Amino acid sequence: VTAGEPTRAAQQDERTFDVVVIGGGQAGLAVGYELRRSRLSFVILDAQPQAGGAWQQAWDSLRLFSPARASSLPGWLMPPERNGTPTRDEVLAYLRQYEVRYALPVRRPVRVASVQKSETGLILVTSDGEYLARAVVSTTGTWQKPFIPHYPGQEQFRGLQLHSAHYRTSQPFGDQTVLIVGGGNSAAQILAEVGQVAETIWVTLEPPRFLPDDVDGRVLFEQATARYQAQQAGREPPPASSLGDIVMMPSVKAARAQGLLEAVRPFARFTPGGVVWDDGRETHIDAVIWCTGFRPALDHLAPLGVIEPNGRVQVVGTRSVREPRLWLVGYGEWTGFASATLIGVGRTARMTASELVAELQAS
Ligand SMILES: Cc1cc2nc3c(=O)[nH]c(=O)nc-3n(C[C@H](O)[C@H](O)[C@H](O)COP(=O)(O)OP(=O)(O)OC[C@H]3O[C@@H](n4cnc5c(N)ncnc54)[C@H](O)[C@@H]3O)c2cc1C
Repeated sequence: VTAGEPTRAAQQDERTFDVVVIGGGQAGLAVGYELRRSRLSFVILDAQPQAGGAWQQAWDSLRLFSPARASSLPGWLMPPERNGTPTRDEVLAYLRQYEVRYALPVRRPVRVASVQKSETGLILVTSDGEYLARAVVSTTGTWQKPFIPHYPGQEQFRGLQLHSAHYRTSQPFGDQTVLIVGGGNSAAQILAEVGQVAETIWVTLEPPRFLPDDVDGRVLFEQATARYQAQQAGREPPPASSLGDIVMMPSVKAARAQGLLEAVRPFARFTPGGVVWDDGRETHIDAVIWCTGFRPALDHLAPLGVIEPNGRVQVVGTRSVREPRLWLVGYGEWTGFASATLIGVGRTARMTASELVAELQAS
């Protein structure tokens, strides 16, 4: 060992923790916030070079469904928006400041390739060497796993196919005919934008469900909360909108006024130059934008043998049933009520941190 070079023991020490959190998006930060008052040593490993998680990849004009005060992580409210609901860049600035404000120990870019069992804990094989943890919290989100349904003839289609995960602006679609597939908020917002420069056809499995004009995403959250509470109390859940119902953002209202929000049911198959509908009609299409959602990004957990055929991990609360040293936060309802939202992830992060403390701090 030459002067200034860390010894193997020191290196090992820098990579040995009670808890390693994988992913430094909003879910990882919320878990970090809750762990920082414990006596547990922990680190957050994030694959991206900068803070902000998936929000860094969101399209340029994206706006939240709800005002800042209803879109905050634990401890610190998002600063009030300037006009309308917060923009992507306002969310990014908030997440960057949040990390600094609470001095969260995030290392980046560090990608976790795999998590493996060992006798002393869990070994994380990463782009920064091996880490050892007594427990792991996975908060890797869904952005890396865009889901695209399969339609016959799809491979022959010669036009562009883009998932909403990679959509940034309407600029490449000028004067084209664009098929927008999907019935949720991503589809509605992208349709509203692309519809200004291109001919659009909106394809949804069922007629889209729009919220009334005078409410925003808070209503979805409140209704979902009422349903969750009824369920917890063993009562019949009240009927309500789903978190996927379309919020009438100003751009979506404008698109409606232009007659752009008429949706049709899916086509039968692709051809090299377009699509064929059930009645045999063919339409020329230049591009398809798939707004068809995401799946959890869990490949790094494969060696633990915890991934079920449905692509999820079986959990009680947020704790894996098959690997009790593993917790999962932020992926959606299956890892806690509204856990894939800024305001909802706090609850599951708190619960997870208290389980980790109960499990690890005592021993
Ligand atoms: C179009 C759209 C609009 C939305 N609007 C709202 C809204 O209005 N309000 C709201 O509350 N929510 C909204 N959401 C939902 C939600 O807030 C986001 O999906 C959120 O980014 C999820 O946070 P996360 O921390 O779980 O995952 P991510 O933000 O994806 O963060 C995960 C991090 O983990 C890293 N990572 C992944 N794999 C590894 C690995 N193997 N090793 C190391 N690091 C890894 C990633 O690089 C990333 O930095 C919206 C989502 C979308 C797609």
